[in-house]
Amino acid sequence: MHRPPIKHCRNCGTAVVYRLPDDGDTKERGVCPNCQTVHYENPLNVVGTIPVWGDQVLLCKRAIEPRYGKWTLPAGFMELNETVSEGAARETVEEAGAQFEMGEFFSLVNIPRVGQVQLEHAQGTGGKDGRESIRRQHAKE
Ligand SMILES: [Zn+2]
Repeated sequence: MHRPPIKHCRNCGTAVVYRLPDDGDTKERGVCPNCQTVHYENPLNVVGTIPVWGDQVLLCKRAIEPRYGKWTLPAGFMELNETVSEGAARETVEEAGAQFEMGEFFSLVNIPRVGQVQLEHAQGTGGKDGRESIRRQHAKE
């Protein structure tokens, strides 16, 4: 899932033009020909946890698109004004309904193909299904 390029200026709504900005930037950006706003497109941060219970890892079966019905770790897009650990905790509650103790930062995975950086914390868990999951299940490591 690659994000489409920006088509219209977020400031004034004029169709943007992709070109090198006038400030010496070396990468083409969406530049508004009306108000000169430069639109930067950067990777999105996906935050989550690797919930461990004994020798098992908690997985969630997705109840929403994309990837409805697929098993995954609890994770989602980081929100503005939250830290990585706060976002990871929020996503774990939303997706797994898990009661947990947040562990140390565990991994960082770059996924340039889809413009994402995934950041995961380790944690201990218990709990029930969350609103974005059909069900949850522990799997052996
Ligand atoms: Zn504009």
